[in-house]
Amino acid sequence: MPELRKDPIIGRWVIIATERAKRPDDFKSPPEGPPEGECPFCEGKESHTPPEIRAVREGHRRPNTPGWKLRVVPSIKPILRIEGKLDRHGQGVYDVMNGIGAHEVIIETPKHIDNISDLDTQQIVHTINCYKERLIDLEKDPRFKYVLVFKNYGWAAGGGRVKHSRSQLIATPVNPKRVKEELAGAHRYFEYHERCVFCDLIKQEMASKERVLIDIDGFIAITPFASRFPFEVWILPKKHSCDFIKLESSDMKDLAEILREVLLKIKKGLGNPPYNYILHTAPFRRFKPGYWRTVDQDYHWHIEIMPKLTRVAGFEWGTGFYICPISPEKAAEFLRGVQI
Ligand SMILES: [Zn+2]
Ligand SMILES: [Zn+2]
Ligand SMILES: [Zn+2]
Repeated sequence: MPELRKDPIIGRWVIIATERAKRPDDFKSPPEGPPEGECPFCEGKESHTPPEIRAVREGHRRPNTPGWKLRVVPSIKPILRIEGKLDRHGQGVYDVMNGIGAHEVIIETPKHIDNISDLDTQQIVHTINCYKERLIDLEKDPRFKYVLVFKNYGWAAGGGRVKHSRSQLIATPVNPKRVKEELAGAHRYFEYHERCVFCDLIKQEMASKERVLIDIDGFIAITPFASRFPFEVWILPKKHSCDFIKLESSDMKDLAEILREVLLKIKKGLGNPPYNYILHTAPFRRFKPGYWRTVDQDYHWHIEIMPKLTRVAGFEWGTGFYICPISPEKAAEFLRGVQI
C-alpha cells in the first residue's frame, strides 16, 4: 500500500510508492551524456576562464597562473549579471526586475577529477571554506538577499560536458521561493512549539536510527522521512545554527568527511549516478528590521543531496506531490551497508 507522508517543515506531501520499483539494486543510473568537451578548469588552463575572484594558493604566486588548490571564477554563461542597478517595476499584474546577481564557479581541484567524493578531505575542506568566504563577501553587496550554493554532477543533473569537479553559486536580489517556504514553515513550527523543527527532527532521527546513514560528532546524515527522490540525503549540523557563515573552522573537517562519505556511498552503491546538492542557509538579514525576526532560533542550515535516478513528470508538476519509489528507511539501510 503506498503511503502519503508530509514533510514537517514546509508541509509538502510525498507519495512513497514502493510497489512501482523494486529493490535498491534496481536503480540504474541513466546513460551518460554526450562526449566530453575540452576542459577549461584544469591547472595550466587559467586563461580559458574569466579572471579569478579568489583562489587558494601556497606561497605568493600571481593570480591566474598555475600553483593553486582551488579557484573561483565568474561563470562564462552567467544566469544573472553582476553589473548594474536594481530596478523593480510593475507591468500591470506582472512584476519585473532586471537580471542583477552574481554567478560564480568554484573549481574544487586543479586535477581533472569529476566527482568531489574522489577528492581528499582537505581539498573538500578548502571547498567548504570557500563557500563560507564567498557568502561573507557577497553579503556586503546590498543588492543581494540570498546566495544559493549548489552542485550539478553528471550530465542528467545539469553538470554539462566538462567532467571537472566544481560547484556554483548564484546570488539573487530576491529570496528564492523554496527558501521562503522553509523559512515560513520553520517559523510556524517555532511559533507553536518554541523549538526549532530541524533540531526536533534530528533528535527524533537519532533516537529511532531508522533513517540515519552516518552519525558523527557534529553532523548527521539522514534520508528524510518525506523524501521526494529515491536516496535523497540531508546533512545537518547537530548544533543549532541558522547560518552557514557561522560554521567554525574546527567543524569543517567533519563536514567535509561526512559529505565525502555520503557521496561515495551514493557513487559506489548506485553506480555513480548524477546528483545535485544544495546548501540551504538563512538569507541575508539586513533589509527590514523585524523581517524573519526569529530566523536565528527557528531556522537550521543543511545540505540536501538528490541523486538523479527518476524523472519529475506530469503529476509532480501539476500537484507539487513527489512520488518516491523507495522508502527512505530502505534507502538508509541500503546506503549504510555500502562499504567505502
Ligand atoms: Zn579539467
Ligand atoms: Zn535547530
Ligand atoms: Zn532545505
